[in-house]
Amino acid sequence: MMADEHPRSQGDDVDCVEVVEIITDYLEGALPERERRRLENHLAACPGCAEYVAQMRAMAGSLGGLREDAIPADLREAVLAAFRDPPRR
Ligand SMILES: [Zn+2]
Repeated sequence: MMADEHPRSQGDDVDCVEVVEIITDYLEGALPERERRRLENHLAACPGCAEYVAQMRAMAGSLGGLREDAIPADLREAVLAAFRDPPRR
C-alpha cells in the first residue's frame, strides 16, 4: 500500500456547506463551469439546497445584485446554523 489509500474523488460531490460558500459566485455567474455543474448536480439531489438557492436567487434579483453584506445576517446565520445543526428529522 502506497499513496493510494485516499484516492481522490472525481470532484463530483459538493456538500451543503460548500453550497453556502460558493452560492454568491454562482449567482453572479462567477463560478467556473466545472464548479457550476458540480453545484447543480448537488441541487438536483438536495431539495434543501435547491430551495436555498432559489431563495438567494430571488433575493439577488430583488436587490439587483448579490453582495456578501446584502444577505440579511439573520438569514445567513439561520442557514448556516441549519447546516451545522440540522433540525429534527
Ligand atoms: Zn445540500
